[in-house]
Amino acid sequence: MSAVGRSGFLATCAAALMILLPQSSRQNSMLEGIPSGKTRVLDLSYAISDKLVPWPGDEKFFEAKVNATVEKNGYFTRSFWMLEHYGTHLDAPAHFPPGKTTVDQIPARKLMGPAVVLDVRTEGAKDADFQLPAASVEEWEKRHGRILEGAIVLLRTGWASRWPDAQRYRNQDGQGKMHFPGFSAGAAKLLIERKVSGLGCDTMSIDYGASGDFAVHHLALGAGLYHLENLADLSEMPESGAFLVAAPIKLEGGSGGPVRVFALLP
Ligand SMILES: [Zn+2]
Repeated sequence: MSAVGRSGFLATCAAALMILLPQSSRQNSMLEGIPSGKTRVLDLSYAISDKLVPWPGDEKFFEAKVNATVEKNGYFTRSFWMLEHYGTHLDAPAHFPPGKTTVDQIPARKLMGPAVVLDVRTEGAKDADFQLPAASVEEWEKRHGRILEGAIVLLRTGWASRWPDAQRYRNQDGQGKMHFPGFSAGAAKLLIERKVSGLGCDTMSIDYGASGDFAVHHLALGAGLYHLENLADLSEMPESGAFLVAAPIKLEGGSGGPVRVFALLP
């Protein structure tokens, strides 16, 4: 490498550091602020019980039994049974072919990433069948910059305000068809191109409620993404700048399972 080449290289490194340092120090201060409460941590999961909203047709979804009591045994334990797709849960790619990865096989690093929040509360209030178009993803990018590889993209419909009222949350018509907003196939394709790790929503499904073919499920899970469904209230999430940690049950061979989702707010 020539002297000129070397100084050019060093200048490039310095410029890269200037760009990288503020971001990494921002992230460090975000982590350091957790114990003091300076960094807010939101829990985006619902507590699991038999009172949640199951998918239409699921008759048995949760059961808990007391196995040992303090009075009898000196300690307290329970056993529980539940569906993999109940309450706040993760869909692993294996849930919908051609997806293959089961919940235990999703790499841990893919379960953490910057949160992108796409807000459709206004559109969803007017039209419960609203599907987020790809153009809305591009509009988000105009405001906040290109979506990063490994991001986790959340659709904020406002439907969490209806939880756990099954009738209002599912919003079924006379034929039993559900009505709530979702991602469009076009938006899913664009987000797959951006190499995001997962899609999430504050409704029962990533696909809009009236979907008959689950197009987004097939596309996104087929591309190796995962879904976070029935997320709790997203109203405090910024459109950009939060960091998400999704911790699903590590159930061998599972098509998905209950997930605890935390958001770190700057
Ligand atoms: Zn799903």
